[in-house]
Amino acid sequence: MHELTCAECNQVSDKRALDWRGYTVEADEGGEEVVFFCPLCAEREFQWPPPPTTSV
Ligand SMILES: [Zn+2]
Repeated sequence: MHELTCAECNQVSDKRALDWRGYTVEADEGGEEVVFFCPLCAEREFQWPPPPTTSV
């Protein structure tokens, strides 16, 4: 694993990149690219991990 840069806050990971998440997004050129988010931004942007569903 190598260092990743968070697409949201530009934080750079350490070499383990623990809990960082990569997402495939559509690139401007029409292809796809992978962007990475640090754990904090991933949680804020994508609600990850998903909140537990409570059955009523
Ligand atoms: Zn971030």
